[in-house]
Amino acid sequence: MTPELLTDLETRQSASRSWFPPHLKIRPLLCDAVAQPQSTDEVAVLVAWAEAQGKSLRAMGGGSGTGELASVDIALDTSHLTELSWSEEDLTVTVGAGKTVGALEDQLARHGYTTGHVLGSANLATVGGCIATDAHGLFTGRYGSFRESVLSQNTVGGIIVEATLKMHPQPEARAWAVFDFGDFDDACDALRLIHRSDARPSLARITAPQRVLLAFEGDEVVQTGHFQMAYAVCQQLGGIPASPDDGERWLEGRQRSDFWSANAQSDTFADFMRQKAPWSSVSETCQRLRNVLEGRVASLDIEVAHPTPHGATLELAFTLHGDEQRYRELRELILPSRKA
Ligand SMILES: Cc1cc2nc3c(=O)[nH]c(=O)nc-3n(C[C@H](O)[C@H](O)[C@H](O)COP(=O)(O)OP(=O)(O)OC[C@H]3O[C@@H](n4cnc5c(N)ncnc54)[C@H](O)[C@@H]3O)c2cc1C
Repeated sequence: MTPELLTDLETRQSASRSWFPPHLKIRPLLCDAVAQPQSTDEVAVLVAWAEAQGKSLRAMGGGSGTGELASVDIALDTSHLTELSWSEEDLTVTVGAGKTVGALEDQLARHGYTTGHVLGSANLATVGGCIATDAHGLFTGRYGSFRESVLSQNTVGGIIVEATLKMHPQPEARAWAVFDFGDFDDACDALRLIHRSDARPSLARITAPQRVLLAFEGDEVVQTGHFQMAYAVCQQLGGIPASPDDGERWLEGRQRSDFWSANAQSDTFADFMRQKAPWSSVSETCQRLRNVLEGRVASLDIEVAHPTPHGATLELAFTLHGDEQRYRELRELILPSRKA
């Protein structure tokens, strides 16, 4: 059976979106045709047909992915795969791969539930895209990364069609602790020791210059012991408490961020990368990245995020002025050190 394929330019452009900076501003990707399957069976027909015809096929979610993509013959637009059902008894939600995280969260919130994934791209990013890229929301301490919340998934020829995710009752309360440290290594030690203990903040990160942000979610009783343990660690290491309101303000600012809009300027690239490091080399890795990037970029922000008892992730957001070649050279400088 031949699947229905759309070949008008507008649909092809819309199904070829990508936020990889050179794709965004210089050379948009363009597929030859777009399929918009409505069910798992239609995905299966399309996958079999593409294989028989020797056509390359790629799933297209919200197009908010920031990684470089090769061009393909056919884009499989998942936007019609949005069915949703949930079980309050099992605390699970089964959702079509094309549902955006924002729409999923809105629907669950009306019934007092959440998956816990708070993404800057919630209104674009789809469940399938978030699984494929293992998206990380801000509250990974409590909810894990996107893949960590997948209990099962239905995949056809590499295309995620549907997934069953962990669902949580919405937390009753969120409390922030904010501490300023005089020294980056002390701030790292605070996060390391907090995660070595039983205290488990929902969100923990070091923002510039040496500010530790901690958010605790849950019911009042659970929250109190964890909160006090982490608070004591920060004080013992010389952290100066700042207003807890700064935490909520940071979260609001983070969700409103227009960082990517710098890509609208013809000579500016804005990009974001992650690099994991064990605690024994977080500080050294951060310094190495600063040495590589400072002087080459127009702006640089490095945050320590997603801590575990073993290490953390350095999140780099930078802008640079120049052409695509300069941008790619800079990526090359960062990428080898990412493997360290
Ligand atoms: C403003 C902005 C903010 C962002 N904030 C965050 C953030 O807070 N955290 C974070 O982790 N990322 C963030 N990102 C990156 C991006 O949103 C994530 O990578 C997201 O998971 C991509 O989802 P998508 O549906 O847009 O995927 P797409 O961009 O459509 O696709 C990305 C990749 O996933 C594959 N894919 C998509 N759907 C499927 C499927 N059904 N089956 C198999 N493969 C599939 C595609 O083929 C492609 O390789 C942000 C991006 C932007 C532009």
